[in-house]
Amino acid sequence: MSDNPFISFETFLFDGDGVLYKESEPLPGAIEFLNFLNEKKKQIYILTNNSTKTRKEFQTKLTKLGISINIENILTSSSLTANYIARESPKSRIYVIGEDGLKNELKSAGLEVLNDWQEKNDDKIFDFNFDDVDYIITGMDRFINYTKISRATHILLNYDKVKFIATNADFTFPTVQGLIPGGGAMIKILEELSSRRVEQIIGKPEPEMYETAVKLSNTPKDKTIMFGDRLETDILGANRIGMSTCLVLTGVTSMTDLENLTDEDAPTIIVNDLQDALRSFTKS
Ligand SMILES: [Mg+2]
Repeated sequence: MSDNPFISFETFLFDGDGVLYKESEPLPGAIEFLNFLNEKKKQIYILTNNSTKTRKEFQTKLTKLGISINIENILTSSSLTANYIARESPKSRIYVIGEDGLKNELKSAGLEVLNDWQEKNDDKIFDFNFDDVDYIITGMDRFINYTKISRATHILLNYDKVKFIATNADFTFPTVQGLIPGGGAMIKILEELSSRRVEQIIGKPEPEMYETAVKLSNTPKDKTIMFGDRLETDILGANRIGMSTCLVLTGVTSMTDLENLTDEDAPTIIVNDLQDALRSFTKS
């Protein structure tokens, strides 16, 4: 039997930040590993919870890093949320707590964004057609303010028919200078203020992203492997649906975090970086 742990997989799923790159720098071995997989005719998908960019913007960022990938192979929590709603209820009207990347993906899917401008803090909080709203969607919003929070809370408190969906539940977002509030923080603010609970979360560790990649790749789950740096999202979600997983130690998880793993969040394979993965894959 081969001691190459990756040989049997046909489709390779990757988280972005902390696995392929850190902010604007590719991580060791990332480009070489992706090139190698391309040569071997393996399928590659990138799954990111980051809701602030459109897939097109994400593709541009990857190109700058030296990673070329088709837009169809990029799955973001925004694009999947847009597809999910378009499928469930086409032409819905949406109040968005989130950035332009999310709003643009929703519009591309034929949905109507009711607050398609930067809402300012002023005394016109209730100058808004609240009756029109079908969904509240949350994502990370670095322009969150009092007006937006007030409007979203008003909708959740007064309109039971409005569905409350989140692109992702990552509570924080890592930057080089430190953690900042992520998409999960937006959920918590609205849950606390409205006493309602978010009804559906699209990003990892929920199944939607992994299931979409499996469907698009047309590869069975047991021939698919997820590479991630976060145990509680990337690895947990893939384990739950029966995929193999590879933890990459170039992101938020270090060796000392691996002492008390449960079956649910233990990765199948651990590598220091993708250079390490490439070395294992090329040995006979
Ligand atoms: Mg990551």
